[in-house]
Amino acid sequence: MAYRSINPFTEQVEQEFPFASDAEVESALQQAHDAFETWRQTSHEHRSELLTRVADELHDVRDEYARILTADMGKLLVEASAEIDSCERILRWYAEHAVGYLQPQVRPSGSYVGGSYEVVPTATGVIYIVEPWNFPYYQIVRVLAPQLAAGNVVILKHASNVPRAAAAWQKLMTRAGAPEGLFTNLFVTHEQSARIIADDRVRGVALTGSEAAGAVIAGQAAQSLKKSTMELGGADALIVLEDAEVEKAARWAARGRHRNAGQVCVASKRMIVVDAVYERFVEAYRQAVRELVAGDPTAPETTLAPLSSEAARKGLIEQVERAVANGAHAETVEISVPSTGWFMQPVILTGIDADNPAYLEEFFGPVTQLYRVADEDAAVALANSSPYGLGGSVFTADTARGRSVAERLDTGMVAINRPALGGPDVPFGGTKRSGYGRELTDLGLLEFVNLKVVGVGDIDG
Ligand code: NAP
Repeated sequence: MAYRSINPFTEQVEQEFPFASDAEVESALQQAHDAFETWRQTSHEHRSELLTRVADELHDVRDEYARILTADMGKLLVEASAEIDSCERILRWYAEHAVGYLQPQVRPSGSYVGGSYEVVPTATGVIYIVEPWNFPYYQIVRVLAPQLAAGNVVILKHASNVPRAAAAWQKLMTRAGAPEGLFTNLFVTHEQSARIIADDRVRGVALTGSEAAGAVIAGQAAQSLKKSTMELGGADALIVLEDAEVEKAARWAARGRHRNAGQVCVASKRMIVVDAVYERFVEAYRQAVRELVAGDPTAPETTLAPLSSEAARKGLIEQVERAVANGAHAETVEISVPSTGWFMQPVILTGIDADNPAYLEEFFGPVTQLYRVADEDAAVALANSSPYGLGGSVFTADTARGRSVAERLDTGMVAINRPALGGPDVPFGGTKRSGYGRELTDLGLLEFVNLKVVGVGDIDG
């Protein structure tokens, strides 16, 4: 597929970008490698200064850059602006905090003759990152900021439907004074991508995307014995217990499910509600969904954006049809949607049995899976029966009970009385088929460093 920006609201092709030639890929790899040899020797202060300049530049172009996101993949302008703010916070967080986590640690040793040794976090080289379209800048920054802070350099392959966002990020880095090769966006084919992963100059691979892409890219990285991190899909459960503030939970759930037109990896996609409050929850949820306003994503009153592409909408409709063919009930929440643009009316699916393919799937859009269960134990069992394990949430008036449910959930993250967690100082990642590795915080910073052990001994000892 070519790299093409098609506005999901107007359905107009706005810009196309040619694939990189093999010669351009080779030159980018060499330039990145050369940049690494210099960058790895720079001080932490120098790296922090660059991250701060990137944050400053981004701050200055907030409105212009937000509009690129809205035009590339349809998200609400207000959400695009919030994404930029979030990127700025991540950049500033690493500018301030990375140095503290990258200091050599002295550790005592009873077996080593010197009596102690050091663990020195050391840069490893070019990190190749493959990113999705749903948060076009934020996904880049979650990996780029820690990698630059750690002394690594980055080559990006972005999703083929958000090339303007990718190109805009390249420009931003140049404006901020990043030396050539420190960050390189490449419009590559999947075949070229495989060759980049196999190239000796690339030392690590980070993917955020679907489970299908994860299986391919993790396999390619493994073939070359390269470390990888995989931030993949999710079908997060939102559990509502009988002591929860039900109407509040329903409002949070509806808002979380339809943010970014429902195209969020950690959106609550499966509402699991105990019998005692099920009817109340459904009524309040349906009402909150009915209040969504679909329309021009740049208009402040709009709360439901179009889907990112025609293919995304087609795929989601087919998924709903398949769920129904296998016994589920689909309730379309009738809200008015514009006649142009890849909008989809919200759908609530019920009656999804364990043998329905939908039971195991992620729905990436305004489709809610709703389950009624007897009690807390049944809620946890259902939540854990998903192949995914990204995030999850539990709503209850009793925080201690919420914590004990959180402990029982097989996911990377659990929020109590909120749909999801987030922020530059909160680690992000999943387990099971949602992938492995963590982004953000010190955990993301240390994913692609070499924890080198250095000891000083006494030759005569
Ligand atoms: P996708 O199809 O997997 O695409 C993600 C990226 O992978 C794109 O850049 C895509 O490039 C690339 N890609 C796919 N197959 C490839 C291959 N064989 N070789 C090289 N590159 C390949 O995912 P998506 O549909 O765009 O994004 C939605 C998915 O991402 C959802 O499952 C969502 O839950 C997940 N996600 C996870 C997180 C997280 O942090 N866990 C965050 C956001 C999204 P092309 O466009 O060129 O195919």
